[in-house]
Amino acid sequence: GATIGILGGGQLARMLAIAAARLGYRTIALDPDPACPALQVANEGIIAAYDDLKALASLASRADVVTYEFENVPVGPVREAVSGVSLFPPAEALEVSQDRVVEKAFLNGIGIETAPWRAIDSVEELGHALVDLDSDCILKTRRFGYDGKGQASIRREGPVADAFESLGSRPSILEAKIAFDYECSVIAARGQDGAIACFEPAENVHGLGILRRSTVPGRVSETVAHKAREIAAAIVGKLNYVGVVGIEFFVRSDESLLVNELAPRVHNSGHWTEAACAISQFEQHIRAVCGLPLGDPNRHSDCVMENLIGEEVRRAPKLLEEKDLVLHLYGKLEIRAGRKMGHFTRLTPRG
Ligand code: ATP
Ligand code: MG
Ligand code: MG
Repeated sequence: GATIGILGGGQLARMLAIAAARLGYRTIALDPDPACPALQVANEGIIAAYDDLKALASLASRADVVTYEFENVPVGPVREAVSGVSLFPPAEALEVSQDRVVEKAFLNGIGIETAPWRAIDSVEELGHALVDLDSDCILKTRRFGYDGKGQASIRREGPVADAFESLGSRPSILEAKIAFDYECSVIAARGQDGAIACFEPAENVHGLGILRRSTVPGRVSETVAHKAREIAAAIVGKLNYVGVVGIEFFVRSDESLLVNELAPRVHNSGHWTEAACAISQFEQHIRAVCGLPLGDPNRHSDCVMENLIGEEVRRAPKLLEEKDLVLHLYGKLEIRAGRKMGHFTRLTPRG
């Protein structure tokens, strides 16, 4: 069997390693934290920083293909160290998705609508941009934000200085706050042969910037689902993408869609696929990066996936008593507020 190198050792890498093992592959995960979730299940681990060229080269030399579980791996070092084997999804997908300004410019450049935005490098620019956008806004750091971290709300009237300083005065993006009807996401996959398969879009609910719940089928109409798939196909085609991608949308009451962001990897809002589909997003990603045919993304059940965040993981024993509930814990040794500890999916017969 071939070996898959995975950059990152969090729960997404752990679930990729499990899916890889089921298809007969070996995995090597690289992560700075020896206690990370993936190192408990991968065949081998490399404990090192993501920009450690020697460690990256060692990973590449022991793997037949390299993939990643998060979009913030440093592109330069990874490109350099992983030049001898395939890197999937391609480095261009990292470049586009790890900087919110580059990402929005890319999307708008291929005709995909986003929230109106401005790049921000100073408090003065922020003041002008706020007048320009003429709306309540959200200021986000260009890089390294996740789970709503690195964001600040700003009223149309300001003030702006506190918001900019609260993000460490870092290069940022100002986005108009969208009065959306609901949020949804599509988990799409593109194979090495160019085939595209999309799981059904999920309706997502966030709390304090963190995904709480994904529902399938949710409020997503046929029209919205069709538009979401078309947008996903345009994105993966343009990037010559290989692997699974998560695309987040704001849906307005007139059924128009704005792309919020892309994640060039398996995505939290696709965890339901492990319970409600024969082929999960994790297996789909492994299939794509290993050059196997993509699996059928149809679902056999209706479902609701919920995250277990921080102390909520203590609900696990009680949840196990429920029928048609699929529980997945990440093996994190320490409970911390806001930390994703696991998730569960409740299944009901397809309606
Ligand atoms: P993730 O963990 O999904 O990577 P993130 O930190 O990158 O999260 P975003 O997806 O940008 O953060 O924002 C988190 C949530 O905040 C969104 O799902 C949405 O609920 C809300 N939000 C973000 N941007 C906007 C916007 N421009 N208008 C309205 N709501 C927004
Ligand atoms: Mg994000
Ligand atoms: Mg998001």
